[in-house]
Amino acid sequence: MPNNNNGSKWIRPDKRLAIYLRDGFTCAYCGSSGVLDRAPLTLDHLQPRELGGTNEATNLICACRDCNSNRRSVGLDDWLARLPDSSAIAQRINTRTSTDLTPYRAKAKALIHGNHFVVTDIRRRADMSWRSEHLHA
Ligand SMILES: [Zn+2]
Repeated sequence: MPNNNNGSKWIRPDKRLAIYLRDGFTCAYCGSSGVLDRAPLTLDHLQPRELGGTNEATNLICACRDCNSNRRSVGLDDWLARLPDSSAIAQRINTRTSTDLTPYRAKAKALIHGNHFVVTDIRRRADMSWRSEHLHA
């Protein structure tokens, strides 16, 4: 059965959560937060699957549902060109996708298995990550 971009079964839950953690639960494109803005979050393929993009973490980014559906399968360069401050966004994407996912996968597994100490630490770090990305503080 082909993978379905609109469903959630194409990626393991802990890998999806790990990428959300890596990305501080914020949309790479508009910066809205799944925590503070309660934006519905999705994973977006930087290189669209229609153009040969993979499901590797280096090709996946946290994006809000609005940005993901606005982009559809537009190539990354064309999509970035439509956004304000596209060079800052490209830098943010580079920073995220060059980050080793391994520790985030470990945290995601702990979260899924209900380790409350880890959950608290993740919430604090997600908030700190959001602040450093948005408030420069
Ligand atoms: Zn967005």
